[in-house]
Amino acid sequence: MTTKVGRLSVIHTEIYQCKRCALHSGRTRTVPGAGDPNAEILFIGEAPGEQEDKQGLPFVGRSGQYLDQLLAGIGLSRDDVFIANVVKCRPANNRDPLSDEIEACNPYLRQQIEIIDPLVIATLGRFSMNMFFPNEKISRIHGQPQFGARRAYYPFFHPAAALRNPSLKQDMEADFARLLDLVEEVRTRRASENELSLEVNEEIIEVETIREDDDDAPDTPQQMGLFE
Ligand code: URA
Ligand code: SF4
Repeated sequence: MTTKVGRLSVIHTEIYQCKRCALHSGRTRTVPGAGDPNAEILFIGEAPGEQEDKQGLPFVGRSGQYLDQLLAGIGLSRDDVFIANVVKCRPANNRDPLSDEIEACNPYLRQQIEIIDPLVIATLGRFSMNMFFPNEKISRIHGQPQFGARRAYYPFFHPAAALRNPSLKQDMEADFARLLDLVEEVRTRRASENELSLEVNEEIIEVETIREDDDDAPDTPQQMGLFE
C-alpha cells in the first residue's frame, strides 16, 4: 500500500496497540489524528483531553469547537486539513505530557509528517512549538513562519489558552488570517524548486545523449558547467 491513506492507516494501527509509554494505561482510546491525508496544512496540538479520549478523535471538545470556528473564519473545515497531537494518549487529569512520553510518541508524529508531507505545519501551543523551536517562547514567535527545506512552520497559541485568556483571541485570529497566504507562498516555492530540478535533469539527459553519439568524445569528458 503506497497511498498516503494506506501508509497512514498502518501507523494508526500501530498507535491503537501502542504501549511505548505510561500513558497507555490511563487511556480509553488512542487519538492518532484525523483529517485529509493529502492536506496541505497539518495542525499539531498537545494531547487528547477527556472528550478526545472518549471519542478517539482530536480536538472534539471545547478547544476543538474554537478551532472549528477559526478554520471556518478562513473558509476551511477540519476535513480540509489534518489534525494530530504531540502525544496520542490522554495524560491523567489533562496534566502536561512529560518529556519521556513526548519522546516515546515522537516517531509516530515524524512518520505522519513524512507521509502527509504538508506545506505548512501549524503548531498549537508550546509543546508542539517546542518540537520545532526548542528554546523559543510562544508569546514571542506566534504568527511568525520559519521556512524549512520543504515546508513552513507556523506557531499558534493553543486554542485552550485563547479560551482561558480572551485577550489572545485577537492575535489568534490575526495569525489565522495569514495562514492561506503562507500555504500559497510555500506552494510557489516548491513549484519553482521542482522546475529547477527538472531543468537540471533535462540538461543531464541531453549531455548523456551527446556523449553516447559522439565517438570522438574523450574518455573523461570535461565537467559540464551545469551549476555555474
Ligand atoms: N487539546 C489538544 O491539544 N489536543 C486535542 O486533541 C484536544 C485538545
Ligand atoms: Fe504510545 Fe504515544 Fe500512547 Fe505513549 S502516548 S502509549 S507512545 S501512542
